[in-house]
Amino acid sequence: MAYHCFAQCNPSISHHLRQNQLFLKCLVFVNRSLAMEKIKCFGFDMDYTLAVYKSPEYESLGFELTVARLVSIGYPQELSSFVYDPTFPTRGLVFDTTYGNLLKVDTYGNILVCAHGFNFMRGPDIREMYPNKFIQRGDMDRFYILNTLFNLPETYLFACLVDFFSNCSRYKSCEKGFKDGDLFMSYKSMFQDVRDTVDWVHIKGSLKEKTVENLEKYVVRDAKLPLLLSRMNEVAKVFLATNSDYKYTQKIMTYLFDFPHGPKPHRPWQSYFDLILVDARKPLFFGEGTVLRQVDTVTGRLKIGTYTGPLHHGIVYSGGSSDIVCDLLGAKGKDIVYIGDHIFGDILKSKKRQGWRTFLVIPELAQELHVWTDKSGEGSHVQYLHILCVYMNLDSSSNERPDISTIQCRIKKITHDMDMCYGMMGSLFRSGSRQTLFASQVMRYADLYASSFINLLYYPFSYLFRAAHVLVGHLFECVYNFSEDVIVAYLGLGGESPC
Ligand SMILES: [Mg+2]
Repeated sequence: MAYHCFAQCNPSISHHLRQNQLFLKCLVFVNRSLAMEKIKCFGFDMDYTLAVYKSPEYESLGFELTVARLVSIGYPQELSSFVYDPTFPTRGLVFDTTYGNLLKVDTYGNILVCAHGFNFMRGPDIREMYPNKFIQRGDMDRFYILNTLFNLPETYLFACLVDFFSNCSRYKSCEKGFKDGDLFMSYKSMFQDVRDTVDWVHIKGSLKEKTVENLEKYVVRDAKLPLLLSRMNEVAKVFLATNSDYKYTQKIMTYLFDFPHGPKPHRPWQSYFDLILVDARKPLFFGEGTVLRQVDTVTGRLKIGTYTGPLHHGIVYSGGSSDIVCDLLGAKGKDIVYIGDHIFGDILKSKKRQGWRTFLVIPELAQELHVWTDKSGEGSHVQYLHILCVYMNLDSSSNERPDISTIQCRIKKITHDMDMCYGMMGSLFRSGSRQTLFASQVMRYADLYASSFINLLYYPFSYLFRAAHVLVGHLFECVYNFSEDVIVAYLGLGGESPC
């Protein structure tokens, strides 16, 4: 595995290894160095982390249940004809509750993609609504970030609703919503209806019921999970902190750890954890938290009063906080790696408020790596070198204005073709050469990330995950040395100008 690390730190070697997609899928990627031998506790989220939901089956179920509920509260019956399309939504989009648009933005709020329903808007139209193609993304009353995997069905639903009302003759499109006779439905009220409905489906509706009724259809089961956790448990403490309730957690975890033909002796899922917390209410959990109670594992009910005793193996707790976890496990923030899929609820909050080490699970990464290696993501980089070559011998005294429009067109085409391979909204991490808000949050808050935490199985627990140097502009130029000889050699031009 030292070979893996060497390859990650060495661009020339990793270039050759990109051909091996299987290899890449097994890697853990590093934003900040982390010495595994210093880690005393591994913490896990459950939904979309330990329990990976099958895509698009699970999102389709969430979509259908949400539409059915919307129809039952008065939305048009025609909405039932929409079928969830996994190629449309990308995680991390922003919904503008004023104009009803789905936006893909970068770290600062610059708009990279804008869709009204299924209509992708062009630059001049975007500028009419958003001066400078820019939003104040801190305006949380107006802009809602659809950051989690649970948000994917509603991301698609927003597009369906805007598309339906825009094209239905009964409704008249207005700047900030739709009119039906004397009734006005703003995008904001539509957004609120969808959000309330999604919460209803998750908390009171039948999403959980239908999931546990057909676990094989909706949840991925991997024999490597009990193997990794048993190895972790030999070198460190392991805990679960999930927002799900006990009854649901019990059913999902029993399924995940149930391998009748697996290693013997067969162990109940609870035995893999030193501490089990349900109803954690993250992100509140990483701040003041909630009252710590004990769950009666026979009835599923909570016992009266706050739990004040020591840590007991096998007890299931409800609520609590990250401080309580540290006290019960006898650990400090830096001793803990928390593994989750929610960039805000799991990763940002545990890092910012508690200084925990963080591991972000990004299931989409497997597909992103596949596209990148398959479509040769370096194409636009080569075109950029052509531009450098054009300007190589010019300075401020030059009256010459080289025409780089052809190269610019080529770059646009390469990046657009690549973006479309990811889906209609493009990559989770980038739009052309620009990073998305999601990508910048990953870089800032996730120490480690991978398509699955199972990838830790391929590293020893003494491993040093070492971050590559992040180069600011002047160092990038020094390291990659964009001299004429280097560029000409790289492009294989034999000294001929490319243009
Ligand atoms: Mg989760």
